[in-house]
Amino acid sequence: MTTIRRSRMGSFASAAMIRRDVAELIRPPRRIRASEAAADVMKVVGGDGTVRDWSPDATPYMTEPLDCMGSRRYDAVIFVGPARTGKTNALVDGYVAYKIECDPGDGLIVQISEDKAREFSKKRIDRMLAYSPKLNARLSPRGHDNNVHDKTFRAGNYLGIKWPSKNVLASSDYQFVLITDYDRIEDDVDGEGSAFLMGSKRTQTFGSTGMTLAESSPGRLITNEDWRQPDGEPHMAPPTSGILDLYNQGDRRRWFWQCPQSSCRRWFMPVLETFNLGSAVAFCPHCSVEIDPREKRALNLNGRWVPEGQSLTVDGELIGTPRKTRIASFWMEGPAAAFQTWRSLADKLARAEETYQLTDSQQSLQTVINTDWGRPYKFRRATTQRSSQRLLDRAEQIEHRTVPAGVRFLTASVDVQGGRIAASSCRFTDGGRIARPGWSTASTSRKTAGRTMIARRVRSARQRSLRIGTC
Ligand SMILES: [Zn+2]
Repeated sequence: MTTIRRSRMGSFASAAMIRRDVAELIRPPRRIRASEAAADVMKVVGGDGTVRDWSPDATPYMTEPLDCMGSRRYDAVIFVGPARTGKTNALVDGYVAYKIECDPGDGLIVQISEDKAREFSKKRIDRMLAYSPKLNARLSPRGHDNNVHDKTFRAGNYLGIKWPSKNVLASSDYQFVLITDYDRIEDDVDGEGSAFLMGSKRTQTFGSTGMTLAESSPGRLITNEDWRQPDGEPHMAPPTSGILDLYNQGDRRRWFWQCPQSSCRRWFMPVLETFNLGSAVAFCPHCSVEIDPREKRALNLNGRWVPEGQSLTVDGELIGTPRKTRIASFWMEGPAAAFQTWRSLADKLARAEETYQLTDSQQSLQTVINTDWGRPYKFRRATTQRSSQRLLDRAEQIEHRTVPAGVRFLTASVDVQGGRIAASSCRFTDGGRIARPGWSTASTSRKTAGRTMIARRVRSARQRSLRIGTC
């Protein structure tokens, strides 16, 4: 009889438990920076079972993006960077820890597949919750509230760990949606649009407290091979779909280091262009001084994010006007990654280049450029294939309506459009050189344009007048 009574009593909550649960429900948000909260409550469990505090000093470039996620000034944060930067640990695990501890709300983590969601839940979220005492105390004690893909907390907030599909992304509202490995998710999820657009719709209901994150290394090809960096937009990424397209829509912050040379002290981006692949060291593009790999940590600790339109003075003052947008976007490259050595970066690229030379396959090259260097890949065309820009680059300026020496024959063409006729000529020389088009004209009458063409005369290098006829 006693046993039965005890088990019945066990199924009811104690007054103390109820008081604690109710206190959780009415707990006001803690107003501290997201990075401070993560440092305060989050433990990081290594693959070897070691447990340590999460420290912003290990990956100093993550503090600002994480704090932007906790700010009401932004609706979304976009982070583009190579592997081994600690980006998922800071922006997904760290932000979840901040929300559980300081500002409870329903959230969704989107992994690239169901398998990856399960793995992420067991290896990252479960371990973080188990080894972080303050977070563990927030977890609902009821066993049925928590399984692999769903976590519920004492304050009533819910965390889903799922994958991109119409069912997941097109129904419930969440205060935050965190999308990882964005460029490994297809552009169009179940015919409903991009994962980012669908995710940001889910957070819209929450107004300025909603947050959508997309983080990834670039994984899409550059769509316009002839693209050149526009004047006045040095932080713009080349045209691609996916994460770099989202980055371009934001305020385009790039990571800068200050040259350690006391006579220089100017700021530069640690990227492929400022990296000597031969000696595997970064260098300052202003004074050309090569940087000792041991200085990387100190340079990162002193590093700064600089938005498009702004620059840093040698005294570290940010000047200029940033783009006005509610998307904070960040892009950093391989040389600044905390957990990747410069020697390994250079070696991986050299090996991928060797594979390309031997096999003509660009797969390894693309993987290294994307995931180790954090850059979009520009497909290398065989030299026999031409791009319009490469042809234009070969154009030579010559005196109008003359035929330069070496020209073997001329062509003239007329393109008949709806209400317009365009005419041009090309001169072909020995060695396949192509001269710039000689002229163009527009007319509403086909007859007039034809007569204009026929009446054109050009002078050869020997000053002979030549007439172009029709054929
Ligand atoms: Zn310098």
